Amino acid sequence: MTALFDTHCHFDFRQFGGDFDSELSAAKQQGVERFLIPSVNEDNWLAVQQLSYQYPEIYHALGFHPWFLPSQPAKALPSLVQALEQRSSQCVAIGECGLDFVTDTPSDRQESYLSMQLELAQQYDLPVILHCRK
Ligand SMILES: [Zn+2]
Repeated sequence: MTALFDTHCHFDFRQFGGDFDSELSAAKQQGVERFLIPSVNEDNWLAVQQLSYQYPEIYHALGFHPWFLPSQPAKALPSLVQALEQRSSQCVAIGECGLDFVTDTPSDRQESYLSMQLELAQQYDLPVILHCRK
């Protein structure tokens, strides 16, 4: 069977929380051998980091999803820099970040978060996981 790498899987969301081990095992039975969990904002960074410490086949990304942007970029951005400075080798990307014009979040706020994360991606030489809608 071909080995698969699910590069965008929100395994930390509570829909998987009831029986995480069996969800992971079911995915592996279908040939998925590696997983990349994007984060959505600071509130789930610890969860995705812990999952990738616990399971070596799980990698994670750190960032701010356009649906979950903190209201105070001045506080949020230094937190991301600090998390990136302390990242493990399991942190392989920035994201999920991007633009979403279905959500009510003002476009200028989304654009400023996206620009900042693209700059950090260059600075830390990491790829980005982009969310692009409308
Ligand atoms: Zn996503």
